[in-house]
Formats: sequence, structure tokens, C-alpha cells
Amino acid sequence: GSTIGIIGGGQLGRMLAVAAARLGFHTVILEPQAGCPASQVANRQIAAPYDDENALAELAQACDVITYEFENVPVEAAQKLAEEKLVYPPPIALEVSQDRFREKAFLNDCGIETAPWHLVNDTESLVAGLALFNGKAILKTRRLGYDGKGQARFRGDGSDDVAGALASIGNAPAILEGFVAFEREVSVIAARDREGNVRTYDIAENVHSNGILATSTVPAAISPATAEKAREAAEKLLNALDYVGVLGLEFFVLADGTLLANEFAPRVHNSGHWTEAACAISQFEQHIRAISGLPLGDTARHSDCVMENLIGDDIARVPELLKEPAAVVHLYGKAEARPGRKMGHVTRLKANK
Ligand code: ATP
Ligand code: MG
Ligand code: MG
Repeated sequence: GSTIGIIGGGQLGRMLAVAAARLGFHTVILEPQAGCPASQVANRQIAAPYDDENALAELAQACDVITYEFENVPVEAAQKLAEEKLVYPPPIALEVSQDRFREKAFLNDCGIETAPWHLVNDTESLVAGLALFNGKAILKTRRLGYDGKGQARFRGDGSDDVAGALASIGNAPAILEGFVAFEREVSVIAARDREGNVRTYDIAENVHSNGILATSTVPAAISPATAEKAREAAEKLLNALDYVGVLGLEFFVLADGTLLANEFAPRVHNSGHWTEAACAISQFEQHIRAISGLPLGDTARHSDCVMENLIGDDIARVPELLKEPAAVVHLYGKAEARPGRKMGHVTRLKANK
């Protein structure tokens, strides 16, 4: 069989490696951290930094196709690999999604609406942006934010410390977004193969707690027309990026059904973990199929479900969860349950179909 390289060794890399193994592929991961979640299932680990030239050459040598499991892979590393081997998703997807300014601009250029935003290069441009949004806004670092980190909120009630907020996210460059009074948050997991065929899974409704995804519920409580708009937006984005693989696109849904795209991740996505329990073909297998030139699998859902992330001490609930019927438990093999750390997830299937 052929060999798939995966840059990054976290739980997403682990689940990709499992899916790859099930289709008869070998996997090699590039990940500096020893004992990482993916190392327990991949055939081999190259333990080096993601931008290490020798390690990248070794990865290219060992693999037929190379993918990644996190969006902060150094773009130059992906581009260098792409000179020698197939790299999917294409490096342009990394370039765009690593920078919230480029991401918002790219979405808008595709005709996909977002929250109103304003580029912040200094305190002056932040003050100007706040005036545009009546003081109610969210400041986000352009790079490296995740799980709500690197963000600061402005209430517009006179209590805001503008310079302090900018300092709290590590200063500019940043973007300011108008605060969206959304009714709910949803996401779509979409896949595009090497020939340009696109398939999307049903829309998930996502609830966050302390900035971290807590649950994804499928189906989302949105109209069929809104769901269709979300799928169409994802398809536009995939085509514009000439994308190959699975992508997650997050939206805010307003009371009138208007969708505002928030961000996308050029990889399998936490809000798509339910697919392993409620669909014949999971997002992980779908990604492996897409990047390997295999036909995309069926995205149909056989059950309604709720995926719950197991974070930190939630891991202690596993013995009880295992007693529940129709609860599909998936653990990441992490030894230490630090607060805020994603340890696993459980998908509860509803016997409704
Ligand atoms: P992730 O872990 O999903 O990558 P992140 O750190 O990249 O998170 P966002 O997804 O941009 O950050 O924001 C985190 C959450 O903050 C959103 O899911 C949403 O609940 C809230 N949020 C972000 N932007 C806005 C906005 N403009 N208006 C209102 N709420 C927002
Ligand atoms: Mg994000
Ligand atoms: Mg997000």
C-alpha cells in the first residue's frame, strides 16, 4: 500500500491515522512531541520541528501524499513539500486560514458574508473600528488564536480599556469584528476530491463553553433553506481554494436565518466528530479518501446525535459513559488531564431513524 504523511500528532492526526490504516495505508507523522496522541497509532514518527529541513526531506521521501492536522503548519514547509510530493489540502488554504484578515477578505471575495470587520494596526485604527461598530465588538489577533484565546471583547458601555485590550492580545496586527447577536452557531463539514467533486455532511449546531467547543448537535435547528445556504457557501469556498480534503466552516445564524461565516479550518474539524458515529463514512475516512484520489464516500446520516467533548476532568466520567447504550466513546490516549485539554469525545445516537 502507499504511505500518507501527516504533519501534526494531536488527536486529529491520530483519528486520521486510524482511518488511513482501515483503508490499508501506512502513516508517517511529523511531530516533535514524543508520545503524542497520533504516535500511538501511526506506523512511524519523525520527531522534529515542523520546519526542520532534514525532517521535511525525510517526510517527502517516505510518503506518497502529505496532509496536515492543524492550520498553523509553516506555509513555507508545506510549499517546499509540494515541490516534491502531493500536499493536500493545498498550501494556499493554510496561508489564508492562518491570518484572520486574509481569511475574512477571502470569504468576502467568494461572496460569503461575514461579520463586519476592521483591520487593526495600532490603537488609532482600533478606536476608529470601535466607532464603526457602536463600541460593541470583538478584537482578535490575526494569527495563532484558537479556543477563544487571543480575543478581547468590548461592551461599549464606558467600561472598556481600549489600550489594555490591545495589549492583552499581544498588540497589533489584529482585526476588530462587530459583535454579532447570533441566535445559534453552526458548522458545515465539506469534502472535495482531486477531481473537484464536493460532498457535505449535515449541518451541526455548536455550543461553546469558555471558548471551547462543548457540544455539536445534529441536525441543527435551522430551516432547510438556511442549511442549503451553508452547504453552498462551503462549496464556493472549496472551489475557490481548489481544495482537496475535508474542511470545516463555522457560521453565526441570525434570528432571520442570515448566515455570517466566522472562520474555516483547512482540516478535519471538532464539530465533525459526530460523523464517525452517525454516518457510514466519517470525516476522517472522507479526508483520507479525498487526498488519496479515492472516491468520496456517502455523507448521509443514519441517526440524529449529540457529540460532547470530554475536557480535562470529564475523563473521569468515562466508566459511566461506557455503560450508556448508544453512546460512542472515543478517547485520545492523553496521559495527563489538564484543565481545558481535549481528552476525548462521546457521541450519543438517538434511536429516531
Ligand atoms: P476555534 O477554537 O473555533 O478555532 P477561535 O479562537 O479561532 O476558536 P472564533 O471561532 O473566531 O475563535 O471565536 C470563538 C467564539 O467566540 C465563537 O465561536 C463565538 O461564540 C464567539 N465569537 C467570535 N466572533 C464573534 C463575533 N464577531 N460576535 C459574537 N461572537 C463571536
Ligand atoms: Mg479558530
Ligand atoms: Mg471558531
